[in-house]
Amino acid sequence: MPQAAWTASQAGWSLTPAGLLDTAVYAIPMRSRFRGITVREGVLVRGASGWGEFSPFWDYDVVEARRWWPATVEAAVGDWPSPLRDRIPVNCTVPAVDAETAEVIVGRSGCGTAKVKVAEPEQSLADDVERVAAVRAALGPAGAVRVDANGAWSVDNAVRAIGELDRAAGGLEYVEQPCASVAELAAVRRRVDVPIAADESIRRAEDPLHVALAGAADIAVLKVAPLGGVRRALEIAQACGLPVVVSSALETSVGLAAGVALAAALPELPYACGLATTALLDGDVTSQPLVQVDGFLPVRPVNADLLADVAADEATTRRWHQRLAAVTGLALGPVRQA
Ligand SMILES: [Mg+2]
Repeated sequence: MPQAAWTASQAGWSLTPAGLLDTAVYAIPMRSRFRGITVREGVLVRGASGWGEFSPFWDYDVVEARRWWPATVEAAVGDWPSPLRDRIPVNCTVPAVDAETAEVIVGRSGCGTAKVKVAEPEQSLADDVERVAAVRAALGPAGAVRVDANGAWSVDNAVRAIGELDRAAGGLEYVEQPCASVAELAAVRRRVDVPIAADESIRRAEDPLHVALAGAADIAVLKVAPLGGVRRALEIAQACGLPVVVSSALETSVGLAAGVALAAALPELPYACGLATTALLDGDVTSQPLVQVDGFLPVRPVNADLLADVAADEATTRRWHQRLAAVTGLALGPVRQA
């Protein structure tokens, strides 16, 4: 069990019930459906170092959810590496919306880079082409357009789609996870000129530290939570030897702060990061959310001072307590009402 065995205590941190100062379960509606979800949920825990977030998606089983816990513990009772920069360039995210909405999202964001979701099951390539063209129109020629297929295409479909989307975009910056497997990424990469970024291939690998990406990807997309923390993700960045784009897992500003800490600690940061995702949530756990301004996020700590505003209902809270107990053995006791 290589990755499943990676624990918070291996990372040097442990969070015992005695070290747990506070917990809160949140539920925040998404502004539009993303990754098949309409409400984002998770648990925040506070230790001596501050708040940490634990919010694996519900389609992850206990084994996969367990990978997220060391990142939570690191934030709550550990520390992060020293920042090398004080602001992080970020992209805006365009869900699988219609072209008109896509143009509005990009125009309103002020970002110079846009990441566009493509290859959604209910949509056609023509929808994706239209959306990508609208994003280019909104960004202007100087902007960068990248797309994310979340592994949905076959090799042949990827090659065809990338060709069409690259034309519609007037040049794509890169395509993220066009197919599901590393072997397929390598096959696509041999047939297209657009750079390939690996995301799920890294974070859902048995052992993200040793996934062989040579020949399969030009860029590594790293997410702190599923990789087990900022320090662990930094190790993976060094091991894979590729330029890194730090992305979020649609966390609140508390979870995002960990992604920001990774982006701030990387020796090189050649691409805008996918960390401006609080815009996808209709609320946050803090009165000072990590919101991008002119395409940058600040590097700073986040205090969860608005938990009561986004508190989950009793049934949801109970469900997360049960999940946390299953994943970590940590019993959070009776459900408190906010
Ligand atoms: Mg992705």
